[in-house]
Amino acid sequence: MSRIVNGKVDVLVVGGGITGAGVARDAAMRGLSTLLVEQSDFASGTSSRSSRLLHGGLRYLAQGHIGLVREASHEKMRLSRIAPHLSDPLRFYFPVWKGDAWPRWMLAIGVHVYDSLCGGRNLGQSKSHSPASMREEVPGLRQAGLTGGVSYFDALTNDARLVIDTLRSAANAGATVYNYAKFVSATRSGVEWDCEVRDEESGEAAGIHAASVVNAAGAWAQTIPHSSVRLRLTKGVHLVINRSLLPVDGAVVLSEGQRILFVIPWGERVILGTTDTDYEGDLANVRTAPADIDYILRVINKGFPGATIRYDHLISTWAGVRPLIAPRRTASGSPSDLSRHHEIRMPEPGWFDVAGGKLTTYRLMAEQVVDRIGRYLTRTLAPSRTSQVPLTEGVAGVQYSGILPPPVEAAVVRHCCRNEWARRLDDFLVRRTSWHYYYPSQSGIAEEASRWMAAELGWNEEQRLAEL
Ligand code: FAD
Repeated sequence: MSRIVNGKVDVLVVGGGITGAGVARDAAMRGLSTLLVEQSDFASGTSSRSSRLLHGGLRYLAQGHIGLVREASHEKMRLSRIAPHLSDPLRFYFPVWKGDAWPRWMLAIGVHVYDSLCGGRNLGQSKSHSPASMREEVPGLRQAGLTGGVSYFDALTNDARLVIDTLRSAANAGATVYNYAKFVSATRSGVEWDCEVRDEESGEAAGIHAASVVNAAGAWAQTIPHSSVRLRLTKGVHLVINRSLLPVDGAVVLSEGQRILFVIPWGERVILGTTDTDYEGDLANVRTAPADIDYILRVINKGFPGATIRYDHLISTWAGVRPLIAPRRTASGSPSDLSRHHEIRMPEPGWFDVAGGKLTTYRLMAEQVVDRIGRYLTRTLAPSRTSQVPLTEGVAGVQYSGILPPPVEAAVVRHCCRNEWARRLDDFLVRRTSWHYYYPSQSGIAEEASRWMAAELGWNEEQRLAEL
């Protein structure tokens, strides 16, 4: 039997990543009847495969994208206010060696400007560091040629949790959201879109009459019928190791030409990444390749020569695809130079494409999409309140959400199945808790979680083993 009932809505959102989740929250909070469909699990696309940073993007300053950095910096501060449990201020040390692309004086100006673009105070004050101070703050850095550096503040978040909590807020405001529900087709009839949505669990189709449709399908956006989106996809990989191997107090930025790579402390672990290479493979099966690991380990071991991180130190990896808007004229720029700006278009009446952007700017993108829907529907909507209302307002079980994984106990499984739409084992291990990335695979946690989940969802042993 299909979970999805035929019906009529003001807004049908296609895609349950951070962009779609943001649109659903904003639309529902402004009184529009809203349905969101996600073909797989929520956040299973790019929105659980990022560097997990709320950031203005210091690097984009060097490319002259000041407006973009200001916009993202304001959003970073807003998200820190509405979701403090998903925003952990973090100092980023940016060491400089002789011959680096960005000299220390340039970075010192850069971080000063960066602080000033936050529309008030940044999460902490940036600093310039002498070689001695940099050595003291970040032990283990390569000494030869170190000329000092700078430090500045951004925040660590948990991308998949940001999606789930945004969806819970959306549902709380009246939106209906389904994972494992695919948008199949749409035809325009009169002032409405007649849409077909398929329940991926039962295989049954449902018909939805939508006054407006929002294509928020991320890297898939150009494959959706009626889409006007043109993307350039680039892959980024992250590695997770034990923090004892690289005992950093703050995050560290290592530059390699114009590219940068982060060392990000995450509880007892450290996240290393990322890469940036063109991608043309299967969107549902983005993988970490040996060449990605080699590149990251080479840069890390050059910056921290005593660490000698090896393949067998890796606890987990993840790989994601950036849905960057393709440059209008040529696709000649190197992937790292492609802008992270977003675009909202209405190629046909009532059809909205939203593409590009970042995790950090999702709330603003969503507000702008819903403003446009309001104008199109000639409805006077109340102004968006998503920058003021706490993300967890009216939502139960928030103690299980945060930057670090929740405790390993059966109550977490129950909560995620009952309140957070976890239906498959990896919904729970990968997106709801990050246990999959945090704990070594031999720890037996997946086995234990599968038993708890089987008890909660009534799986037989065959189903449990298949999930495992
Ligand atoms: P997605 O999360 O991919 O969501 C789109 C969803 O649409 C998918 O879940 C997909 O299954 C679904 N879908 C597709 N087709 C259909 C259909 N027919 N029916 C129903 N559903 C469908 N940003 C930051 O701010 N900070 C960072 O630190 C950062 N680091 C990054 C590092 C990497 C390596 C990458 C790749 C990106 C990073 N980003 C970062 C960017 C950020 O992660 C993305 O901009 C953001 O997650 C995109 O979200 P989205 O909702 O648009 O796409």
